[in-house]
Amino acid sequence: MTLDTPLKELPGIGPAKEKALEKLGLQTAADLLSYFPRDYEDRHLYPNIAALPLGVPVCFQAMVAEPFRTSYIRRGMVLTKGRVVDDSGQIELTFFNLPYAGKGLYTGQTFTFYGVVTGEGQRRMMTHPEFHRPGEEEEEIRPVYPLTAGVSGRLMVKLQKQAAACIEQVRETLDEALRKEHSLLSAQEAYRGIHFPSSWENLEEARHRLRFEELFCLSLGLTLLREKREEQEAVPFSKQDLRPFFDALPFALTQAQLRCVQDAAEDLKKTVPMNRLLQGDVGSGKTVVAAACAVLAYENNCQAALMAPTELLAQQHFRTLTELLSGTDLRLGLLTGSLPAAQKRACQQALEAGEIDLVIGTHALLSGPVSFQRLGLVITDEQHRFGVNQRSALAAKSTGHPHVLVMSATPIPRTLALMIYGDLDLSVIDQLPPGRKPVETYLVGQDKRARLYQFIRKQIGLGRQAYLVCPAVSEEDPEGLKAAEQYGAELQERIFPDLRVGIVHGKQKPRDKQAVMEAFAKGEVDLLVATTVIEVGVDVPNASLMVVEDADRFGLSQLHQLRGRVGRGDHQSYCVLVSGNRNPQTRQRLKALCASTDGFAIAEEDLKLRGPGDFFGARQHGLPQLKLASLAGDLRLLHQAQAAAAAVLKEDPGLSKPEHEALHHRLAELFRESGDIFN
Ligand code: ADP
Ligand code: MG
Repeated sequence: MTLDTPLKELPGIGPAKEKALEKLGLQTAADLLSYFPRDYEDRHLYPNIAALPLGVPVCFQAMVAEPFRTSYIRRGMVLTKGRVVDDSGQIELTFFNLPYAGKGLYTGQTFTFYGVVTGEGQRRMMTHPEFHRPGEEEEEIRPVYPLTAGVSGRLMVKLQKQAAACIEQVRETLDEALRKEHSLLSAQEAYRGIHFPSSWENLEEARHRLRFEELFCLSLGLTLLREKREEQEAVPFSKQDLRPFFDALPFALTQAQLRCVQDAAEDLKKTVPMNRLLQGDVGSGKTVVAAACAVLAYENNCQAALMAPTELLAQQHFRTLTELLSGTDLRLGLLTGSLPAAQKRACQQALEAGEIDLVIGTHALLSGPVSFQRLGLVITDEQHRFGVNQRSALAAKSTGHPHVLVMSATPIPRTLALMIYGDLDLSVIDQLPPGRKPVETYLVGQDKRARLYQFIRKQIGLGRQAYLVCPAVSEEDPEGLKAAEQYGAELQERIFPDLRVGIVHGKQKPRDKQAVMEAFAKGEVDLLVATTVIEVGVDVPNASLMVVEDADRFGLSQLHQLRGRVGRGDHQSYCVLVSGNRNPQTRQRLKALCASTDGFAIAEEDLKLRGPGDFFGARQHGLPQLKLASLAGDLRLLHQAQAAAAAVLKEDPGLSKPEHEALHHRLAELFRESGDIFN
């Protein structure tokens, strides 16, 4: 067997199993070896029953003392029970609705059991233990792999044991000097250790080595990406006079906004394309910074494009920018998928003829026959919703390489920003426009519903509007969560028959969704019941109340985004988090949000609690995924890896020396999606 051996050639892998494995991304032996356990079980044998601690999974051997009996305790409920003993005591084993569970457990025979002990003294018991005969499956540290239907834990372990035969073929990416300097295991030792640890220390060493390698490769790739970009040429925007634009604005920029405009303006003067991430909390005023960049493009005879993740946001940006730029000569265009064909065509022609200076659109800008006369600047909003591929697709439509400005309202710690956005420079708007009142945030239980409805009514009575966000679209969604569709209808009929209730969710047709949103923006809807489709960027200054149902279902950063939908006007605004969840940790998390309005602090908190993988939900940024390392937790290791990467590149800039061949190969593979980093 080699690393390239397809799994279907292994004994016992038919077409069905092959498909199931493919779902996990596993096609070859090499894939298997890079498929790491998500956890490990401690299966060391306790000396006897009396020594077993309560409440944690334990492994022990004992003899079956009596035949297992099955009884019917309730309609549809079957209980199977029996006792196991040793010299020190006894434990009752129970299984629910598994009438055959006790079948192999013959009286008088000894088995190895694994499970959690509860109860005291003679009443100690274990529910649904795993068991096998002594001598089978003896590993003390048992890896637990992420699985899917059709791939059991046993099958995975069996496959890993087969794949282990080619661990010797894994190529070493870290040379010996480097391994020695950082006390790292070899690649072979690390792969063996992560799948078949000989001890907990061995496992930790294996994980350490693999984490280092991940961060090392990432640092190398990002450096190479940056170097490659610095070789590219963009149109320098050397004419820069923003006075008339600033003078025509209805407000003065904050210091933070001015600084960000300056950062960008400096970049834009250069022939190296700008690649800058503009971060600012919701409501911090990123749009006007983008507008200033578009003005600079215009002054230098270039077109600019702004890409938003949804139609709704594109339209809103179009309106806002039309206003912000009304004191200038820029000609604006809007291009989204739902426009009538004739209008789309007209917009495309105008772009091609250079009659539009700033076009605002959705991914419709990428698809189809859009071409620009002289695209010099690409701005994307809420970038993490786009893949790197999409970004480069738009870049490909420009003359030479465009300048790129990415705006994000998710305050990401710097190290993480690096990861997600690759080689971007960073500007932060860390100050809100003057006169904003912080949103008052409250956490309430389900029992306060009547008062909550009164409060909604009171705000609307004052002429304000309210959002009510639910975690699910319809009741087909599981777990009895509030569902926008049914709940909205119920509120309209039973609670607020005299108010105008609108409903939006992601499964509606774009046109319907838009109609409701527009009505809300115009003040024709009082209460908007929605899913998180309203999460990003929607701007209705008259809205003063945000209610989030089942708030424990959302991440902190997401809640913060939702809260950012209110408090955009002059009125005191409120955010009410409704949650019946009594888990102390969950409550602490939600209370943290009530106490703070600082998006960065909240993001850090979120990151600590959930880790970067969850932080963005399903990410698709095109950079390699970290499997073991965590940027939040492994900062020191990251710095070591970065230093090591810099040293290697200094000595061998193109990684072309023979000793770096395996590394070169690995990087090309990892950064496949980000374009070829080696030329
Ligand atoms: P976001 O960063 O969330 O995209 P926006 O650009 O939508 O924020 O700005 C939020 C609101 O604040 C808008 O109504 C905008 O006109 C207003 N605004 C932006 N900058 C200022 C400022 N310096 N002074 C007063 N209002 C501002
Ligand atoms: Mg915005």
